[in-house]
Amino acid sequence: MHSYIPKERFFPYLSWTQVEQLPDKSNTVIIQPIGAVEQHGPHLPLVVDAAITTAVVGRALSKLNKAIPAYSLPTLFYGKSNEHAQFPGTITLSAATLTAVLVELAASIYQAGFRKLIFLNGHGGQPQVLEIVARDLRSRYPDLMIFPHFVWGAPHRAAEIVGETEYEQGIHAGDVETSVMLALLGDQVNMKEAVRELPETFEPGSLLSLEGRLPTAWLMEDLSRSGVVGDATVATAEKGEAILDSVVAGWVKVFEEIYRFNGL
Ligand SMILES: [Zn+2]
Repeated sequence: MHSYIPKERFFPYLSWTQVEQLPDKSNTVIIQPIGAVEQHGPHLPLVVDAAITTAVVGRALSKLNKAIPAYSLPTLFYGKSNEHAQFPGTITLSAATLTAVLVELAASIYQAGFRKLIFLNGHGGQPQVLEIVARDLRSRYPDLMIFPHFVWGAPHRAAEIVGETEYEQGIHAGDVETSVMLALLGDQVNMKEAVRELPETFEPGSLLSLEGRLPTAWLMEDLSRSGVVGDATVATAEKGEAILDSVVAGWVKVFEEIYRFNGL
């Protein structure tokens, strides 16, 4: 049941009496990994975002100083993935449903006495929802510290490992995600189907962009036939391990800092 999460850090393995008696609950770091079940090109399984997030949380928790109390909730496999809905197999929650799920689980965590909750999300289509939910929760529970984080937000070396250009352009199922999946679940990756696909979007010198300062609402079918944006063909398990190591080291530091954080 605990997947990549170390057993002693998997929240649902506790009994209610253990939860009740935990010392220092207000500084205990509770992590909710959030993924997606959505298309990631012909070569990758639907589970990519959930797998990467769970593995990063699990490896970081296994490296975290044992004296720091931290637990992972079960991964929320489903996310808001309607930008991929035209590709069969994608399962999407609405923003309203995802909001309700996160608000209600945060209420339960708060009720149990915890005051530090991280939404650790691996899917690029939903940080905005998590940020709105986090601010609403903060206004409802003034002593709850809540962190709407993206798995690629902690310090890491992915851009150095795959190259700056691919890191910027390969926003979905490209070298980074494919390499990490080769490292994690290589038997579920079919490199014979891997492609390189980059969209022609804006004229040279355009002020507009897909993401960033002047973004455009896009659907994956606007950008890609294969469902890939980036270069999956050059992915390797070695690069994936190196990326994972650096991301995990970054999250260990973030968990330590959140444990020490005294609020604003
Ligand atoms: Zn992804």
